[in-house]
Amino acid sequence: MRIHHLNGATLCPWGRQRLLGGGNQHLVCHCLLLETEAGLVLVDTALGLEDHHAPSRQGVRDGMRAMRPTWDEAETMARQVERLGFRREDVRHIVLTHLDLDHAGGLADFPRARVHVSATEHTAAMEKRSLFERMRYQGVQWAHAPDWKLYDAARGERWFGFDCVRGLEGLPPEILLVPLVGHTRGHCAVAVDRGDRWLLHAGDAYFFHGEMAPEDHCSLGLRVMQNLLQMKGRERHENRARLRELVRTQSDKVRVFCAHDPEELRQLATSSGA
Ligand SMILES: [Zn+2]
Repeated sequence: MRIHHLNGATLCPWGRQRLLGGGNQHLVCHCLLLETEAGLVLVDTALGLEDHHAPSRQGVRDGMRAMRPTWDEAETMARQVERLGFRREDVRHIVLTHLDLDHAGGLADFPRARVHVSATEHTAAMEKRSLFERMRYQGVQWAHAPDWKLYDAARGERWFGFDCVRGLEGLPPEILLVPLVGHTRGHCAVAVDRGDRWLLHAGDAYFFHGEMAPEDHCSLGLRVMQNLLQMKGRERHENRARLRELVRTQSDKVRVFCAHDPEELRQLATSSGA
């Protein structure tokens, strides 16, 4: 399986010096494009073409204001898939870590793709029970009625200390959905078997590579921001600790990275993923 690590959007949030603790100067939206025997598979879609241009997406642009995207259309998955020499229709499947507006924006650029997501996350995004969820979930991003494939988070097997891990219908067994609740109600990680070791796209379970270091570098600003963004605090902290333990004990078998850290993306995109 060929794996491309792509940045779907560059974000320069307000107060980033304090927020990012001087560690990173900006954020990325780390997406994966997988060339599989079942066609192209995207893991997360960042912001899409319509988010950049369509009048109907003003709510998305308002919702992203504090994160200050550079709004560079060339970064969208649609344009990057085309630049790699594929057609957008070649993307048959999309696997989402969650449905936040900076992860689900590109869905409409691949209207024929099957969209695999946690059933809990899908319900949360449809119900939008809290004011904050009405902002983070932008229904306009799935107004084209995607072909959803939903997964019950209570079923599956144990995998490297994580429960209810499962394969995805119509996809090779090298791609797994790993429940990692906290940031949102149905947040998941996505595991991809690279052959020599697993990749684990941990979505927004953490934001900065220093959080996985032995000393646990996380600025106060970043800590506060993650607490503000979380839907289930206890679970988020437990899962973050579980990820740290995975990195500490199994880094020869699993390479963990998150959605928004530019340093992790740089390392994985420029090497074969050391
Ligand atoms: Zn995010």
